[in-house]
Amino acid sequence: MGIELDLELPDIEILKVSRDSKGDYVIELRSTNKSGVCRKCGQEIRHFRGYDEWITIRHLPILGREVYLKIRPRRYQCLECDNEPTTTERFSWRASGKSYTKAYQDHVLRCLISSSVEDVCLKEKLGEKQVEAMLSESCFGKNPLDHISYIGTLGLDEIALKKGHRGFVAIASSHYEGRTQLLGVLPDRKKETVFKFLKLIPDALKTTIDEVATDMYEGYLNASKEALGESVEIVVDRFHVAQSYRKSADSIRKQEQRRLKKELSEDDYKQIKGLLWAFRKNPDKLTETENGILEIAFGYSPALKEAYQLRNAMTDIFEEPYTKQEAITAFIEWEEKVIQSGLNCYDAFLKTLNSFQSQIANYFNNRCNSGFVEGFNNKIKVIKRRCYGIFNIKHLMQRILLDTLGAKLIITK
Ligand SMILES: [Zn+2]
Repeated sequence: MGIELDLELPDIEILKVSRDSKGDYVIELRSTNKSGVCRKCGQEIRHFRGYDEWITIRHLPILGREVYLKIRPRRYQCLECDNEPTTTERFSWRASGKSYTKAYQDHVLRCLISSSVEDVCLKEKLGEKQVEAMLSESCFGKNPLDHISYIGTLGLDEIALKKGHRGFVAIASSHYEGRTQLLGVLPDRKKETVFKFLKLIPDALKTTIDEVATDMYEGYLNASKEALGESVEIVVDRFHVAQSYRKSADSIRKQEQRRLKKELSEDDYKQIKGLLWAFRKNPDKLTETENGILEIAFGYSPALKEAYQLRNAMTDIFEEPYTKQEAITAFIEWEEKVIQSGLNCYDAFLKTLNSFQSQIANYFNNRCNSGFVEGFNNKIKVIKRRCYGIFNIKHLMQRILLDTLGAKLIITK
């Protein structure tokens, strides 16, 4: 073998390299350390008391083969402490108390980025528990807040842990200088839970919150107000506002379509086939056929037309270069039109618009597009799907940190 092996581990010397029956490498090492640290007094100790038992430590693979290091730690005695205790040397390169090196742990974590625990277990011949332990003992197992130095925009949103399940977890994220990072995964989206989480943000970090971006959920809004004080601006995400009034408009579409199906002849009803998508689409993006479908449907249902126009008028408000005050005026005018129309599909939305008028209109202050919240949540959903649904919040949090920070923390090192 003409290859000079450099294990890149300090204070060791290679005694022997051999292959085991499976073809994996077994490398016998000797520690070249001449001293240890007393476990009682913490002083450097040099009185050598012989070797401990052989231990086996997994290291980075070579040529596609697993690599096991074998070493007998040296033992030193402290002559200063009572009873002159003996301490076994510790290796700076070994994951503390583990049967693998820190370098191997990083290797497994790198493999885990954009992959799943099952996959990595298969490739590295490790147990699920082992991989999970490597993750939770790494920096990705720490509180997400420990990775944050400036919050910027604090986003609050939720995702469903199980599809079709009512169990939501809340996701708190930070967005600053184009970077989105996880702040926390909360077990539910109750006001008390969010309040408690926000309260636990260290004061120094709290002062770095420029604004809070949230959906129209009352729990978030009230928790933010109470936990962070009036001085932090709360902005309701315009896309969540849009989701809400668009859903209102869609409810009358559904209702009218059901009515028309009963009242129209089969041939006439066929003319409005495709109404759902034509109605939901951005008016600028409609094809001629879709425009035709809408026109026919509106002929049968003036109420539907009115709801549609009001919906688009609301979107237009958000596109205008209004100041906050001008936006509020526009909201009030819109509200009057809704009331005059006699439509009731917007009732729930009007209630929200009134309760959170100021927070919704805060969007116009600096037009912070909190699409990042949505983008970040999509990333989380991908992680969740890839891992066949992670139902454990702690694991989910670690996986998000690994996938979003891993490249920076363990690849570039
Ligand atoms: Zn001592």
